[in-house]
Amino acid sequence: MSYARRLLAERRLLQAPPARLVPILSDNHKTGASVNLPVLNCRPTKRCAAACYACVGPIAWCNSLRKALAVDAALRKGEVEGLVWECRRLQDLRLNGSGDMSLAHVPAVLELARKCPATLFWGFTRRREVAEAVNHQNKNLSLIISFDATSTDQELAGCDCPLAFGPRRPRDNVPNDQRIIVVFPEHHVGHTIPGVPLHPKDCPATRGAERRNACQRCQRCWRPFEAMNEKGGAS
Ligand code: SF4
Repeated sequence: MSYARRLLAERRLLQAPPARLVPILSDNHKTGASVNLPVLNCRPTKRCAAACYACVGPIAWCNSLRKALAVDAALRKGEVEGLVWECRRLQDLRLNGSGDMSLAHVPAVLELARKCPATLFWGFTRRREVAEAVNHQNKNLSLIISFDATSTDQELAGCDCPLAFGPRRPRDNVPNDQRIIVVFPEHHVGHTIPGVPLHPKDCPATRGAERRNACQRCQRCWRPFEAMNEKGGAS
């Protein structure tokens, strides 16, 4: 499924009756539990839309889309009771496992982090304003801003948030920027596309290595401010 087809499918499903949400969280074998949202919220770059992992496999099946739309609606309305119940038993939770959030989701996400102080909330966004609204509010909540070779240069000037670079193609140079804590070579089903040079900040789960529970072992993105402030940056 292409990015454009997923977008169309989500728009069609918006007209259908809402899905029942039991359970609310999603799961994948790399990151573990996640809150998945629709790509309707995304502001993708050219690279991001072309390599969108939310358009391939079970995460793009109809039930997954319905669930993402229902979770999105609940967060926009500030309905977090079900999420709190599920999140409290978790050590960590990936936000934006698919899609992205907007400023409309931020109050619910802040409340969720406050009500689940023992759970670490982490994830990626392409929206600077969302990362800036979320970061430094709760010790157990942070978002990394993703950008790539097709992002505009000015978007991140003066921003103090941790960054992720990718998807990276063979000719894309990684900027020399202390804020970058992780690089994602463009990869499909866990295998990097041929020709992407190695980089010391490459996500360890993207080069055909064992992906099961990779984030649990690595944890670099769980505390991105600490990774950013390590001497020489994350490696
Ligand atoms: S760098 Fe580590 S924590 Fe971040 S996505 Fe890759 S495996 Fe997960």
